[in-house]
Order: sequence, then C-alpha cells, then structure tokens
Amino acid sequence: MVDKITKETRSKIMASIHSKNTKPEVDLRKALWTRGFRYKIHYGEEKIDIAFPSRKVALFVDGCFWHGCPVHAHKPKSNQAYWLPKLKKNVQRDIATNELLKIEGWIVIRFWEHELDNMDRVIKTVTDVLCIR
Ligand SMILES: [Zn+2]
Repeated sequence: MVDKITKETRSKIMASIHSKNTKPEVDLRKALWTRGFRYKIHYGEEKIDIAFPSRKVALFVDGCFWHGCPVHAHKPKSNQAYWLPKLKKNVQRDIATNELLKIEGWIVIRFWEHELDNMDRVIKTVTDVLCIR
C-alpha cells in the first residue's frame, strides 16, 4: 500500500497526539481560571491536564479524533493499518491512566473536546465534583 502522507506530515500529526496545551484544554483552563478556580496543569506522572491535587480531582480534555469520541471519531479511510493501532493505543492509554489514578484515590473526569461547546455545563460538572470532595 502506498503511503500518501509525507514523513514530515506524519511526525507533525504524531506530535499533536501527545501535545499538551491543545486549544480545548486551554479553553477549559481559561474558563475555570476566570471563575476563580486554581489548579495545576500537566500534573504528576500521569500528566493530568488540569489537576486539583488537594482534592484529588483530575480533569482531562480529549480530542474527538485522537481519543475516539463516539460522536465524531470516524475511522480514517486511508492508511488504516497505520492509524487504527495508533488510535487504539491512545484509547488504551487513557483507560490505563484512569485506572492508575483511581487506585491512587483520584476522581477522574474526562471531557470530550465537543462537550466544551457547552462550557457552563462542563463548569457545573467540575463544581459539583469539587463540592463533594
Ligand atoms: Zn466529539
């Protein structure tokens, strides 16, 4: 099978999978900050996107494509042999991270990128969880 994307493009894409400070992540951080929440970013060994360490609440923002959102993640049509294992690995890593954090006593909340369209609802969820901790 002929590979249609260049090496350069591929490495850019791969870098973006693991990149921090993605737009949705920054959007959520700003929304929380302006409402007076204080948090740590890229926290701990698990590199929690947004962490409230004293309450052990961990927030992650997952890109719809890279993390397999049920609404928006359509399987790439070309280069499936290349992409499917990568995407699968991402999802597996997310699950492993969740489990590790739960064992350490954290509450883990993951938001899909598309859920941030309703930021008020996201903030309410975060507020509710912080209240019970
Ligand atoms: Zn989505």
